[in-house]
Amino acid sequence: MATTRESTREQREAKLDELHERLTSAVEQLVSGEDWRRALAFAARFRARSFSNTLLIWAQHAGAYEAGRVPDPMPSYVAGYRQGQGLGRQVEKGQSGYMILAPVTGRFATATPSDPESWRRLGKGEKPRPGEVVRSKMITAKPAYVWDASQTAGDPIPEPPAPKLLEGEAPVGLWDGLAGLVEERGFTVLRVPHEGMIHGANGVTDYTAKTVAVRENMDPAAQVKTLAHELGHVLLHGPDQEDARQHRGIGEVEAESAALMIGAAHGMDTSGYTIPYVSTWAARVDGKEPVEIVKATGERVRKTALAILDQLDTVQVANGTPPGLDRDTPQHGHAAREPRRVEPFPEPEAQMASATPAIQRQGL
Ligand SMILES: [Zn+2]
Repeated sequence: MATTRESTREQREAKLDELHERLTSAVEQLVSGEDWRRALAFAARFRARSFSNTLLIWAQHAGAYEAGRVPDPMPSYVAGYRQGQGLGRQVEKGQSGYMILAPVTGRFATATPSDPESWRRLGKGEKPRPGEVVRSKMITAKPAYVWDASQTAGDPIPEPPAPKLLEGEAPVGLWDGLAGLVEERGFTVLRVPHEGMIHGANGVTDYTAKTVAVRENMDPAAQVKTLAHELGHVLLHGPDQEDARQHRGIGEVEAESAALMIGAAHGMDTSGYTIPYVSTWAARVDGKEPVEIVKATGERVRKTALAILDQLDTVQVANGTPPGLDRDTPQHGHAAREPRRVEPFPEPEAQMASATPAIQRQGL
């Protein structure tokens, strides 16, 4: 006969499994929705730019921000004049574009491709001679102008649902419990005044410096959820871990799914943050559907969440029924609360651009 402790553990495992299934179907629902599809289709119309053009855009956007011409310090969608018109957006009066360098290519032909001296440039409309091969090559660059979406007006820009920061108090003792587990792994927990100190993120795990930093200018519920996420990174994604080289998207899905489970066991509903966050990162992993990614990480996530929950001496939801992902279930336990949704998160692309490999950042 199982002892009470063992049966409680089994119950908990079953609840975590159930919770993960609900997370998976919530992700599935989100990524199959119309808003999501439209946002992806929109983003797909912006081709990747060269590194030097990205730098040119950033520098000029920073100048426009300092001059008060654009509302956000980070560029969002950047398009040429005609491309913008094609998307139903007109450049607003008085907004000057950012200069980038557009490649100018020429066609070259030769009958002896291995001889670099033999290539001749073809004129406009000129056909190669019989037996000649033709290649295009960049010959120069000419200035072209692009505008940030915030410099234009017109049809609304489709955006995927963004993670919403949790609001309200943190469950009693949870911060200290999680911080203790982070410190057991040899990391120092730092609280920083604002996101400007940690690359615009909510939290950062630095495996080299052995620090976990969480910003303090958000509600305690969001801070403690962030710490749970970073603890997930500490336990699962250090450079010494087998899976250290996996796609960053998978790491983010794992850390945030674990944070959802830890939050749920303490009566916190993190779904307003977790579902868009997990969906967005899962969608960045090439070659698989987001739902497949979430499913594939389930076992690792559950094990990690279980190990964390076992080591905490916090008051956890009595009957193991977590709230969240199921609006019809009444909430139990003294820590149960309904977090409200506040400010949207910064632009995903902007956050991506400064990612460094030794650092796991939380925050889209
Ligand atoms: Zn993260």
